[in-house]
Amino acid sequence: MTQIINGKILRDKILAELKAEASLLEVKPSLSVIIVGNDPASKIYVNTKKKKALEIGFKSEIIEFDEDVQERTLLGKIDELNNDKNVNAILVQLPLPAHINTKKIIESINPLKDVDCFHPYNAGKIFTNSDAVVYPCTPKGIIRLLREYNVEIAGKNVVIIGRSNIVGRPLAAMLTNLDATVTLCHSKSQNISYYTQNADIVISAAGIAGLVKADMLKDGVIVVDVGMNRIETPDGKKLVGDADFESVKEKAALITPVPGGVGPMTICSLMENTFELYKLQQ
Ligand code: NAD
Repeated sequence: MTQIINGKILRDKILAELKAEASLLEVKPSLSVIIVGNDPASKIYVNTKKKKALEIGFKSEIIEFDEDVQERTLLGKIDELNNDKNVNAILVQLPLPAHINTKKIIESINPLKDVDCFHPYNAGKIFTNSDAVVYPCTPKGIIRLLREYNVEIAGKNVVIIGRSNIVGRPLAAMLTNLDATVTLCHSKSQNISYYTQNADIVISAAGIAGLVKADMLKDGVIVVDVGMNRIETPDGKKLVGDADFESVKEKAALITPVPGGVGPMTICSLMENTFELYKLQQ
């Protein structure tokens, strides 16, 4: 029997706990989000983040810059936020315009306010398995989901598809720290089936609809689908993951749907990280 993982229920449970905890605080955790330009998807993402933060009783602000903002202006703003005692968490919405050096911007954030965990100091903590400040939101949410559904990680063969700094790469390190045997596949990997067929857990974060098919998997596999792909269907646009859900669910013991699986957990992790940074700064 396949079980469909429900990220929304777990998200709501965790956010309710955070809200209850935050209601007892005199000074509230605070998240500042920087956005550059007018990309509609990025605008939706930052508005959702602010809305969720306010819903659970945190403070949150969106700081907007025009597409042609100078790099030094952004660096100046981040410096100001780094030194502002009322700001606990800083997030710079990516991608940034091409004239901005993204690496420089990320590295200018105080690691103790780096809520996305993209700063090399924080990434390094994870890669060396030593007292991480916070964990990156999507990988953290995936591991939380697996825990909620009592999935054993130690000793399991895990195949991750996608090696971005946001998902695959830190997730590989985090699962290695939890004693899984991890294979990290990417766009240059040859014959991904060779790896997935022997996997107990397959996590796909490539952003390609239909990439993971049933014949690539063993019976009873656990499939975590991070992909978010908007495809055209006869009924209009539809959001799907990387897995061919209908066929893959016949083989999987547990599978995350898209939407409603990993996505809700990412925002939940962002709120947890904001709270954790707040606590560290008290
Ligand atoms: P990215 O473009 O930075 O990275 C994609 C990765 O997939 C790369 O490492 C690339 O090597 C690999 N890849 C591409 N084509 C491949 C192929 N044919 N076979 C194997 N590997 C391949 O993307 P990202 O930011 O990591 O996001 C990946 C997907 O996950 C996107 O669909 C994105 O929307 C989604 N995403 C979802 C959440 C969420 O909260 N649900 C969070 C982050 C990203």
